Amino acid sequence: MDNDFTDEEVHRYARHILLAEVGGTGQARLRAARVLIVGAGGLGSPLALYLAAAGVGTLGLIDDDRVELSNLQRQIAHTTDRIGTPKVCSAAAAVRAINPATRIEAHATRLGPDNVLDLARGYDLVCDGTDNFATRFLLADACALAGRTLVSAAVLRFEGQISTFKPHAGGPCYRCLYPEPPPEGLVPSCAEAGVLGAVTGVMGTLQATEVLKELLGIGDGLSGRLLIWDALAARFREVRLRRDPACALCGAAPTIRDLSAHAHAAPAAVCAA
Ligand SMILES: [Zn+2]
Repeated sequence: MDNDFTDEEVHRYARHILLAEVGGTGQARLRAARVLIVGAGGLGSPLALYLAAAGVGTLGLIDDDRVELSNLQRQIAHTTDRIGTPKVCSAAAAVRAINPATRIEAHATRLGPDNVLDLARGYDLVCDGTDNFATRFLLADACALAGRTLVSAAVLRFEGQISTFKPHAGGPCYRCLYPEPPPEGLVPSCAEAGVLGAVTGVMGTLQATEVLKELLGIGDGLSGRLLIWDALAARFREVRLRRDPACALCGAAPTIRDLSAHAHAAPAAVCAA
């Protein structure tokens, strides 16, 4: 790996390079990394901003929405004067303002069974920042099939959850936790039930931290652990996740071997939290 840094890079990343766990080698690793962020919304905003600030070399952003007034209460990559512009373009502008060296690959399209595998394979690691179950399951299946680590967070009202799924490394997958999507209408979305804006910021920032740890190979990751934050009570709790031997996706006799189950569904809108 290319460990040569310009004076400007040494200065910009000085607080990282000081850390024994990061150093010049870790910083070079971040510069070489390619991370896909699915959803440029409440979770995707802090993800994109912190990963760019941290010096991750290439960020893929996929979202087919445009910035709306009601997004601005929590989606901090976007601004009032960018209402009406595609979210991936608005987020790219925010990223460029922080770190012009970060390469942005903007995908202003819907994530669907036709493009998700190629997208996942094109990156080292994938982050789920969406808020609908069709996209979550599609992405989780694709990442497991493509052998890509998925750092997944979710928010609703005053609560957030985060875990990391890497069945290719022996950990549980998303379907070990949730075998099937819940019946339509059972779990409300943020659009229906609301969310405290800052809660998305905390969860997206936790996600960015876990992504950096995964890329650097440091610390204890969240594979096999679900971290749940109750913001009203100001308490974190942790649930152990185990790999399910009967899991349809990563079990001993998997029945999900491709994305054909998703093929007849309507294209999944990347309706970002
Ligand atoms: Zn599984």
